Amino acid sequence: MQEKTEKLVIIGSGPAGLTAAIYGCRADLDPLVYMGTKYGGQLMLTSEVENFPGFPDPVLGPDLISRMKSQAERLGARLVQEDVVKVNFKTYPFEIFTDSGSVRALSVIVATGANPRRLNLPSEMKLMGKGVSNCAVCDGFFFRGKRVAVVGGGDTAVEEATFLTKFASSVQIIHRRKELRASAALRKEAFSNPKISFLWDMAVSEVLGDAKVQGVKLKNLKTGAESELQLDGLFVAIGYDPSTEIFRGQVELDPKGYVALKNGTESSVPGVFVAGDVHDFRYRQAITAAADGCKALLDAEKFVKEKLELKLVS
Ligand code: NAP
Repeated sequence: MQEKTEKLVIIGSGPAGLTAAIYGCRADLDPLVYMGTKYGGQLMLTSEVENFPGFPDPVLGPDLISRMKSQAERLGARLVQEDVVKVNFKTYPFEIFTDSGSVRALSVIVATGANPRRLNLPSEMKLMGKGVSNCAVCDGFFFRGKRVAVVGGGDTAVEEATFLTKFASSVQIIHRRKELRASAALRKEAFSNPKISFLWDMAVSEVLGDAKVQGVKLKNLKTGAESELQLDGLFVAIGYDPSTEIFRGQVELDPKGYVALKNGTESSVPGVFVAGDVHDFRYRQAITAAADGCKALLDAEKFVKEKLELKLVS
């Protein structure tokens, strides 16, 4: 059976994908958006967003996504809550596969974002959801009056630690160096929060506990000394890896696995455009991802228009 050829398929539903969808409707590209089974990206794991223009009061991350989604739907985007499992960019129109079938597309916008990194300890995986978490916003509530720690020294770690002080009795930031890489504003907030303390030059070597987290084993990276810390919860906030597995061998990736950009939002394959954290390891903001989605759409629109005008496809 011949699949329908879409003018535009968008893969991903964070701010990048949904902005591309909004602009795609306005450009009459009738976008089909594969949102993923867990749609919305990292904003779904974020609490209050205070720096998205247009919201004088803080907006919750999931609310912001919900608004973008409603806006895209109102304009006519077709949003499908399915994962793309395979792509074939070596044929044209491109092929995009899900578990329920496949479509062809004249253009594709890749906006699959990035996933939280793990410590890769067997005990971390064993106790995931039993006191180990990657999402303070999702799980912080369960640690009211408890002792928790956050691993990492970036914006995410410090933001999560500050958020957790709403619930936890104490929050320790465990960092492998003696200096945070978080922004000055976040650092200032954390240093002045009486509930937050810091364990410098430390690595978590094991998460302790059987049915639930009871503590962590720590190694001092300067002295090699080992110690234990009693805890009820451990939040791992050590950065992200791009979601590019299905694109491996289809578009050029950089050595860290992010999609390599050629010109503007173009990937190494003409007609496949890229937006958001799946290529952007530098800025990673909701607003920069949204702006990227807009740019990718404008590039895709031009590409599709040329294809249709040339009558290379009907
Ligand atoms: P990040 O900036 O890459 O920081 C990751 C942190 O985890 C670093 O401190 C790193 O240590 C540590 N780390 C990495 N691998 C580790 C490991 N295996 N074991 C122990 N520690 C490890 O990641 P992020 O904090 O998630 O931030 C990502 C991006 O999003 C950044 O650009 C950030 O500015 C942005 N962001 C912004 C906001 C905001 O503006 N409100 C909020 C969240 C995130 P080292 O310092 O030694 O490298």
